[in-house]
This record gives sequence, structure tokens and C-alpha cells, in this order.
Amino acid sequence: MSENCLFCKIIKGEIPSKKIYEDDDVFAFYDIAPQAPVHFLVVPKRHIATIMDMKPEDCELVGKMLYRAQLIAKDLGLEEGGARFVFNCKADAGQTVFHIHLHVVGGQEMGWPPF
Ligand code: 5GP
Repeated sequence: MSENCLFCKIIKGEIPSKKIYEDDDVFAFYDIAPQAPVHFLVVPKRHIATIMDMKPEDCELVGKMLYRAQLIAKDLGLEEGGARFVFNCKADAGQTVFHIHLHVVGGQEMGWPPF
């Protein structure tokens, strides 16, 4: 846990969120400013600032995030249409919260490339 991290505070319940799922390793909640009909975030409970700070011992944890994200996506009705699973990393990608989070957005068709 990192003292001044927004997502660490959400995980601890110090800041309210619309929680979808929680276990010992992973926490999932709806994004406060959804960019699509479905938009939720999956975060690890362990504080990792960016995806470029991943260490070998984080591989299993990040795999659990991805596994959980696709289960939730299916629960929320995204299996047929699909969804986008995104990690923004640092300034050029628009990362604003420095605790890794997997965005899952879906429920409508999306364009590519994303700029
Ligand atoms: P980033 O831009 O770092 O990839 O994504 C950060 C995301 O966190 C944004 O989509 C933003 O809407 C979301 N967010 C920021 N503050 C809060 C908050 O207090 N609660 C929730 N649920 N989401 C937040």
C-alpha cells in the first residue's frame, strides 16, 4: 500500500467506490467517469505504479487481474460483442493514477487507432 495513492485508498475503503469484485489479490470497481456503456477498472491490491515497474514476481498477479477482468466482462454481458482491455502507461498514454489499473470498456463499437 502507498499512503497517498488514490487506488490504495479505494481498496482500503477510505474512498468509496462501486465495487464489483474483491479477493486477496485483486479489486475491481466501476470507473467514476465511464467512457462507454460499460467501463470498469481492475487493480492489484499490491501497489505497482506503472506497468513498466512490473517485476518478475508480479507476473502471476497481473495474470490474475486479466483473468478476473474477462470473467467480469462476461458477467456484465460483453462476451458476444467483446471489449477493450487497456493499461495506460505514463504521460504519452494519459496515465493519471499511478497504481496500475486495467480498464475494461465495452458495450458499443470502438474505433482504432485510439488517437
Ligand atoms: P488513467 O487515465 O490513469 O488510465 O485512468 C484513471 C481512471 O481512474 C480514469 O478513467 C478515471 O475516471 C478513474 N478515476 C479517477 N478517480 C477515480 C475515483 O475516485 N473513483 C473511481 N471509481 N474512478 C476514478
